[in-house]
Amino acid sequence: QVKEGGRNGIAFFNEAMAEQAKNQLVLEAELHKALSADQYELFYQAKVDVQTGMLTGAEALLRWKHPERGYVSPGIFISVLESSGMIIEVGQWILEEACRSLQKWQALGVWNDDMHLSINISPRQFRRSDFVDEVKKTLMDIPVHRGTLDIEITESVVIGNIEETISTMEELALEGISFSLDDFGTGYSSISYLKRLPVSTLKIDQSFIRDLGEDRSDKVLVESMSSMGRLLGLKVVAEGVEEQEQLELIRDFGCDEYQGYFFSRPIPADQFYKLLHENSLKQSLKASRAG
Ligand code: C2E
Ligand code: MG
Ligand code: MG
Ligand code: MG
Repeated sequence: QVKEGGRNGIAFFNEAMAEQAKNQLVLEAELHKALSADQYELFYQAKVDVQTGMLTGAEALLRWKHPERGYVSPGIFISVLESSGMIIEVGQWILEEACRSLQKWQALGVWNDDMHLSINISPRQFRRSDFVDEVKKTLMDIPVHRGTLDIEITESVVIGNIEETISTMEELALEGISFSLDDFGTGYSSISYLKRLPVSTLKIDQSFIRDLGEDRSDKVLVESMSSMGRLLGLKVVAEGVEEQEQLELIRDFGCDEYQGYFFSRPIPADQFYKLLHENSLKQSLKASRAG
């Protein structure tokens, strides 16, 4: 009986594996087609100053506009782009598209030079030997104001090759690019990386913010990460702020900026432009009151 069960177990396992492999292939083919069919789109989520409520920039987030399923979030497909290597091509498109948006908003006068547009770069793309050249070339083709583009990396970029990571970052910094350490606190060695990597921003992962109102240890952790970041001279951003109470807590803990549904979900470029426009009106109003 044990043997039979074992055999069934194995047969079931194989079927599940085959099914999964098939699904993966179908998805891969669809994702490949998506690039030529223009089905990728960048959404933008506001980054907001905790003290003033004014925009400090945005994070660009990839969406797949599926003809039947509508907008698909990257949670479902980014790992397939990575494992198949398609993330290189799509990642290059993301960089270009983000620069096109930034260039437009700068030309329209709604993007201040102290704002940052962040893009997420996968380890696989970041580690390629020609990554720096691709970025330089893109910035020549689609020039944006110096110091306005930011790259978010996670510590998985670093694993195994910290020296190389640092030198890539230093080369990109020469092009005026700044760096944020994303999903901080979720990895294994974040703190030692924080010490060595030339990042200017630390992003506290949303898993620490989610239950911030109720969870005593999350409070301690967020406050500690925030003061550590500040003492290291970094800007501290809290991700995933959904409620007023969370905003008040991160303000007390000394975070500089936040992102989250409380202010805005990630939205398409034309909608984000409206946010930028309102923000710049508010800003001129403030300036005229002050002056
Ligand atoms: P991430 O870079 O940490 O992005 C933050 C994620 O949190 C986004 O999910 C965003 O929509 C979500 N989020 C923001 N505010 C809230 C909130 O208040 N509550 C909750 N529950 N969630 C919030 P999204 O867009 O689904 O992206 C998931 C992950 O996929 C990203 O995590 C990033 O690792 C990856 N990703 C997204 N876009 C890109 C991209 O263009 N390139 C690469 N390489 N990875 C990307
Ligand atoms: Mg990010
Ligand atoms: Mg994050
Ligand atoms: Mg994340």
